[in-house]
Amino acid sequence: MLFVTLRETPAEAEIPSHQLLLRGGYIRRIGSGIYAYMPLMWRVLQKVSKIVREEMDATGAQECLLPQLQPAQLWQESGRWDTYTKAEGIMFSLTDRSDRELGLGPTHEEIITTIARETIRSYRQLPSNLYQIQTKFRDEIRPRFGLMRGREFIMKDAYSFHTDEASLKETYQAMDKAYRHIMTRCGLEFRPVEADSGAIGGSGSQEFMILAEAGEDEILYTEDGSYAANTEKAVSLPADVVESPFSSFEKLETPDTATIAKLAETVNCSPTVIVKNVLYEVVYDNGKTVLALVNIRGDRDVNEVKLTNELTKLAKNYKAKTIISLSVPDAQAQKKWAAKDLPLGYIAPDLNNSYIVKDGSKTVIPSFLRLADTTVVELKNFVTGANETGYHVVGANWGDNFELPKVQVDIQEAKAGDRAVHDPSQTLSSARGIEAGHIFQLGTKYSEAMGANFTNESGKTEPLWMGCYGIGVSRLAQAAVEQSYDKDGIIWPVAIAPYHVIVIVPNISDNEKMAAGEKLYEEFKEAGVEVLLDDRKERAGAKFKDCELIGIPYRVVTGRSLSEGKVEVVKRANKEAQDLPIESVVETVKQWIEAELQIV
Ligand code: ATP
Ligand code: MG
Repeated sequence: MLFVTLRETPAEAEIPSHQLLLRGGYIRRIGSGIYAYMPLMWRVLQKVSKIVREEMDATGAQECLLPQLQPAQLWQESGRWDTYTKAEGIMFSLTDRSDRELGLGPTHEEIITTIARETIRSYRQLPSNLYQIQTKFRDEIRPRFGLMRGREFIMKDAYSFHTDEASLKETYQAMDKAYRHIMTRCGLEFRPVEADSGAIGGSGSQEFMILAEAGEDEILYTEDGSYAANTEKAVSLPADVVESPFSSFEKLETPDTATIAKLAETVNCSPTVIVKNVLYEVVYDNGKTVLALVNIRGDRDVNEVKLTNELTKLAKNYKAKTIISLSVPDAQAQKKWAAKDLPLGYIAPDLNNSYIVKDGSKTVIPSFLRLADTTVVELKNFVTGANETGYHVVGANWGDNFELPKVQVDIQEAKAGDRAVHDPSQTLSSARGIEAGHIFQLGTKYSEAMGANFTNESGKTEPLWMGCYGIGVSRLAQAAVEQSYDKDGIIWPVAIAPYHVIVIVPNISDNEKMAAGEKLYEEFKEAGVEVLLDDRKERAGAKFKDCELIGIPYRVVTGRSLSEGKVEVVKRANKEAQDLPIESVVETVKQWIEAELQIV
């Protein structure tokens, strides 16, 4: 066995699971976001895959394997080629020797929809659900944390086809259940949450979050368990408005009040009666730049995912399909389109369009796109900017002093402590999570774009209804470590540990102890227990350290107690040690393992 552990923590690894997998010799970094899975890791990944496969098969889904090389033409048909290959797009693309463009599969909607349109003709063939477990490629902007965000990683992706929405919902529910089984069987603490559907598109979607401090996602949930959502998607009720102290419209000199906190203090009002005006620069896929002016309550922040979704809906007004970028423009960016200095920190909802250059080439839209967050719609006698540095207006009202934007949308960021929409007596709590799976109801987006139809019972042609369901197999495996380790190393959940038992011979020059170790190793193998034998010429201390680092659930030591016919058994999770008779140790440990594998 090629077994190499590291004593030092590699500098590149920031989070415990990444450090431990590198130190334990599970993975080796080959390049940015590119890792080799060493034999121990490969066993873990195969165990996760096996659980995923069993649960997918149990739903009636069928396994297949789709090509990783994907012709550009299919992505052009779905309309995703440019979004995925240009600017911040994450698809690796290449040109072959005949000058044909190809992409390396980041996901497979285009491929599967092509197959469906060629093979599914009739409602009699539906529903159908195909899945694969395969390496995906994504040129992530910030690959990091080892297998958590790689540029090459293993995913299980499934795609289902249906005659109607009801059938799609049924499979979606079955997938939800299968995902809960998978997470539970892998020994993970997780939470299903409502999620944003992002660039994949479609209607409902749910993520499966593995709870861990190092998680990149924030989850908001209520203690009663009836609501949980990714902050990207979460809704909430903001705090009640504290009545405005102003009853008439006035312009006040308010020097040095460019922040909400300073302004509230200076004019002595609650941030809940301030209308904050945030300027965004939006670039659409056809190159058009739009300046969006968002009005939101002073105590709230803009959720940029929700804003992106709203701006995407408005894309057609600019003859565009999607957004390439969304940013709060800095001084450098403003130079490209600002006709004069902006009254930053003092902007009012009616900021004049004359602040935008009249651009001959028409790439910059010469009027602001004005959007009001729902939190400002009902505000009375509010405080806001005066479009003049050092000045604000107070006692303002929509209709009298400012025109309320026609576009009124929920783009506020929900946060911990907010009241829940479904039950205002509940408040939202926050937790961090690692997104391990995501299930989507896609609807007819891809089938319509790519012409994947079927004939219904009455002979009419209709587009197929579609769902898609992903699990990050390699991310999940590392997330399990992030959730379960101690100062000495990994504590694998038994179900996905690379081996269940490690037999350690502390001193290999002691023939009796060596023979006992070898015999136990053979007996464990015969009993069907996955076992390792540490018969290296190393100090006993070094062997124990390595064994704790790699996290094998049970260690069996042929040490001092052998003279009484016993061996020491230590449980990795809690380091509980006991001496067991050598004749029955295999049977006893085997039973413990079997008990732990019976979780679902
Ligand atoms: P994220 O928001 O973390 O980038 P995503 O929304 O892009 O994820 P999906 O497209 O839904 O992810 O992919 C399905 C699953 O694949 C994810 O739930 C995650 O477990 C896994 N995954 C996605 N990107 C990566 C990556 N770069 N490295 C490892 N696993 C990944
Ligand atoms: Mg992603």
